[in-house]
Amino acid sequence: MPPLPLPASRRAFLESLAAGSVAWLLSARARGQAPAERKLGIALCGLGNYARGQLAPALRLTQHCELRGVITGSREKGQAWAREFGFPEKHIYSYATMARLIDNPAIDIVYVVTPNSLHAEHTSAAAWAGKHVICEKPMANSVADCNAMLAACRANRVKLSIGYRLQFEPHYRELKRLAREQDFGPFRKMTGGLAFTIRQRVWRIEKAMAGGGPLMDIGIYCLQAACMAADTSGEAHPTFAPVAVQAREHPKQRPDLFRDVEEGLDWRMEFANGATGEFTTSYNGGMDKFRAEAEKGWYELAPAFQYGGLKVTTSKGPPGVGMPPPSQQAVQIDDFARCVKEGRESPVSGEMGRRDMVIIEAIYRSIAQGGRRVEVKV
Ligand code: NAD
Repeated sequence: MPPLPLPASRRAFLESLAAGSVAWLLSARARGQAPAERKLGIALCGLGNYARGQLAPALRLTQHCELRGVITGSREKGQAWAREFGFPEKHIYSYATMARLIDNPAIDIVYVVTPNSLHAEHTSAAAWAGKHVICEKPMANSVADCNAMLAACRANRVKLSIGYRLQFEPHYRELKRLAREQDFGPFRKMTGGLAFTIRQRVWRIEKAMAGGGPLMDIGIYCLQAACMAADTSGEAHPTFAPVAVQAREHPKQRPDLFRDVEEGLDWRMEFANGATGEFTTSYNGGMDKFRAEAEKGWYELAPAFQYGGLKVTTSKGPPGVGMPPPSQQAVQIDDFARCVKEGRESPVSGEMGRRDMVIIEAIYRSIAQGGRRVEVKV
């Protein structure tokens, strides 16, 4: 996705912080407790586009944590980051020296932002160094890798969260509220898609690195939104899933480019209560939309999945969606820092990342079996 400008002063960020955060702080004060003031230290593992363009700026806005180290293949890049973000050079690690993080009490959390195929290795390395982990989506390239990551985090008693930034975004909080309170009735039909065009070879279109094509990278957002809308508890439970999926791969316009991953695909999700989701994802085109329909109305986002500027329309006119934060990532990261401080599980846990990989594997299995309906068992 093209990077969006980060608006905003710290003040604007604070003003627009999720009401929940403010309420938490006030209630802690009211109970006479000192709010947990100590900022946790974060080390970014992988200093590519997303780390540079989104996560590093977000970590200047977070209240509960800050950037204190990096894990990178380039010592020079690490030194430049250390100068820019004001942490000591001894907080620069390579992928091979990650185990030494165990001796660094200034780093509490490792944020894994490397290509998908490396998520499992880097998450496990961080866990064995005793660090809590945020891992970017998709959690890994297979359910088996997700299981290994969960086991490593359990064995070391560290928390694991996935970089599902939109779960904290006001338009999606409103979607979850509608799913729970059913102003329009329960959502019955979800549709939409996410697509952009890739014109040259990058790791995102190499199966060994990316695990798959656009489904792994961007279709996963549609899948997440559909589960949020279909889960009538409104809690976006981490193992809530469709009962079955069916999928069809798009014919390739550029088989030379998309050698071993799909260029695009359509899929259908079938939920236990009869609700359905029908989506498309592609690296050849442009689309960014999500719509949830119920008997008495509908809720639509377009664009639906960007870093900012989401637009909502509903059958009842503009809904009372809270002001979007200047950085979705700052809210997401701060929530995890609070989870660590308060000893609670992240709402976007490793179990949720694993759930999504189970669904994705079922979608690929359906394609491999000529579009057959495949049951999903999380
Ligand atoms: P990128 O290619 O820009 O960065 C990847 C980084 O990993 C680079 O710094 C690269 O040097 C490093 N790396 C380490 N070992 C490598 C290897 N063997 N091969 C290639 N690179 C290696 O990618 P990105 O766009 O920053 O994406 C990184 C991760 O973040 C992906 O998992 C992606 O899905 C995720 N992401 C999430 C969002 C979101 O909105 N949550 C947005 C973009 C990317």
